[in-house]
Amino acid sequence: MVRFHVRGGPNLRKAYTKIQKAKKARYICPACSKKSVRRESVGMWKCRSCGSKFAGGAYELSTPTGRLSQRLLLELKKGALSKEYIEKLEAEIEKAETEAEPQAPEQAKSE
Ligand SMILES: [Zn+2]
Repeated sequence: MVRFHVRGGPNLRKAYTKIQKAKKARYICPACSKKSVRRESVGMWKCRSCGSKFAGGAYELSTPTGRLSQRLLLELKKGALSKEYIEKLEAEIEKAETEAEPQAPEQAKSE
């Protein structure tokens, strides 16, 4: 269902559709492993089955940057953080962020 038209060209429209799909989707619950986690509000996710609440991405349950920070925390707890490992993770975060950024809309050719 189209509620309103997204202006700005095909790239913006594509990005909008992708976000809407991620927002409406059901995700697998990390607590009870049923596919019933749904978005409650911005960054808040709730399992309809066991009632667990999770903090996550604004439009999807987990984001690339969020997953990386979780890994970083896990390594920190284990005390296995080396300088090389942190540098490797920083490079990965940078890569994930550039991939996540939507492309600039195409310039209108008629103007
Ligand atoms: Zn659950």
